[in-house]
Amino acid sequence: MSHACTGCGACCVAPDIAALDKPLGLACPHLGPDHRCTVYERRPQVCRDYQPDELCERIAAPTLDARVARYLAHFGLTDEAATARDSGLTSRAALLARHGVTPPR
Ligand code: SF4
Ligand code: SF4
Repeated sequence: MSHACTGCGACCVAPDIAALDKPLGLACPHLGPDHRCTVYERRPQVCRDYQPDELCERIAAPTLDARVARYLAHFGLTDEAATARDSGLTSRAALLARHGVTPPR
């Protein structure tokens, strides 16, 4: 069964995206206020490869915050995302460095 993207924006906020140096649970800086990608034509391969699936329906909710919360909860990442958010660090690399991890290139 195929799934249609509703443009809900959750997958541009919830996941940790190494190619964008984007930490868990923080909006990609390229996400526009209408939940559209502002660099769509030059978005990284990881974004091009992302396909909507049943998770999109499972996390459906009226607000972006609620969708992101459902996405994180689905993967058991709620606490980790809160820690990342509370750290005040907006780069994935800086967060990893704080934990003594050198990000792979
Ligand atoms: S979470 Fe699914 S429906 Fe929402 S923007 Fe991403 S692919 Fe589209
Ligand atoms: S680059 Fe665009 S598609 Fe990729 S996470 Fe950011 S806003 Fe979403």
